[in-house]
Amino acid sequence: MEAEHRNIIIIGGGAAGAFAALTAAENGGKCLILEKNEHIGRKLRITGKGRCNLTNNCDTDTLISKIPRNGRFLYSAFAKCSPLDVMERFETMGVPLKTERGNRVFPVSDKAEDICSALKNALKKTGIPVIRARVKKLLIENGRCTGAVTADGKIYRAEKVLLATGGVSYPVTGSTGDGYEFAKQAGHTIIEPVPSLVPLETKENWCAEAAGLTLKNVRLTIFEKNKRRYDDQGEVMLMAYGISGPLTLSASAVLKEPSKEQYTAFIDMKPALTEQQLDARILREFNDSKNGILGNILRKLMPPQLIAPVCSISGVQPDLRISVLTKEQRSAIVKTIKAMPLHITGTRSIDEAIITRGGVSVKEINAKTMESKICSGLYFAGEIIDADGYTGGFNLQIAFSTAYCAGISMTQADDTN
Ligand SMILES: Cc1cc2nc3c(=O)[nH]c(=O)nc-3n(C[C@H](O)[C@H](O)[C@H](O)COP(=O)(O)OP(=O)(O)OC[C@H]3O[C@@H](n4cnc5c(N)ncnc54)[C@H](O)[C@@H]3O)c2cc1C
Repeated sequence: MEAEHRNIIIIGGGAAGAFAALTAAENGGKCLILEKNEHIGRKLRITGKGRCNLTNNCDTDTLISKIPRNGRFLYSAFAKCSPLDVMERFETMGVPLKTERGNRVFPVSDKAEDICSALKNALKKTGIPVIRARVKKLLIENGRCTGAVTADGKIYRAEKVLLATGGVSYPVTGSTGDGYEFAKQAGHTIIEPVPSLVPLETKENWCAEAAGLTLKNVRLTIFEKNKRRYDDQGEVMLMAYGISGPLTLSASAVLKEPSKEQYTAFIDMKPALTEQQLDARILREFNDSKNGILGNILRKLMPPQLIAPVCSISGVQPDLRISVLTKEQRSAIVKTIKAMPLHITGTRSIDEAIITRGGVSVKEINAKTMESKICSGLYFAGEIIDADGYTGGFNLQIAFSTAYCAGISMTQADDTN
């Protein structure tokens, strides 16, 4: 069954697909989007806890430094479409923006929905059809991608095809990894997709006892044997399985194969105090209530859920009287508060990951045009590409910048590889 001919087909109506379509249309491209969900931007709607941290208002070098792997591949894309360009585009589409701590950019309304609506309205205004269809395979003829075939057997032909199907995390949003199969069909190498920006599981079960507790202003340090792999200050959430929260998610992006149990994390619950200062503080509390019970006094220093684990790790009974506590026992408590140890046993599943690490190898994509180096007429944008960033708006910026490059280059005459 043949369908209408367009010069550009975009597979996937997420952040990257919608942005690429608008860019291409502005440059004269006649495109359509094939999206399997009823509406575009299902994942976009849940970004930034429903607020959408759409970019990070920083310079190109800072952007690259926030991409732990393959950052250099994105240099050209970031140069062509910077965070300021993205901000300007959304402001022009009628979404006022604000910049918060860490240069994170959000809509003033704090509604991710506004970002989706802006894209949806712009697509409508530009006359870009969004067809609800699940693509089953690419059409490849004589080494060139010439269209796509949908699950209902319809064939869509085009000169250029963009794969913007996302990764494989949060599959309920539609990102189920279909694009990897299409890329493989065209001869591409897929770097194994693994979870990133994902909670971590730990051997210790005291986290379960304190599950739901958010530790604010703590320092999380992660060592691989003696090498410090991650060190930052912020929030850690204790979960039944281990740890989550912003610091943990960022840490997960730098750990290689955490399932091999080679990482130990330490939570410093009083990062503003040195060990000596903390010891002096504890001593003051003890002197003020010499007949007191250890557990009761520790309540002044930490949430109650942590008293039992701190005492257990320090080898001290929480019901001990202060009057009988030795200097060594006090020192053990200080050391534990400054470095609560947790052995990492793995990550949560990819379903819970904010982002997929891995995807189409960047070695096989032209960094200036996002065109396949293997199959002409085929382009890539967004999370399907093997490049991912930390939290802070960097992943959507990757999606927008790569989409912009693809959108422009798909409207130009063939050159390029
Ligand atoms: C909970 C959560 C919060 C996040 N918060 C942020 C944040 O605040 N800031 C940030 O920068 N990043 C954030 N991210 C990451 C960001 O959402 C993604 O990096 C970004 O959405 C990737 O865009 P994309 O267009 O490449 O893929 P997606 O948004 O995943 O879009 C892919 C689209 O392709 C469609 N599709 C897939 N297969 C087919 C097929 N066979 N046929 C037709 N259509 C298909 C899907 O239905 C989907 O709509 C968050 C992610 C999650 C899960």
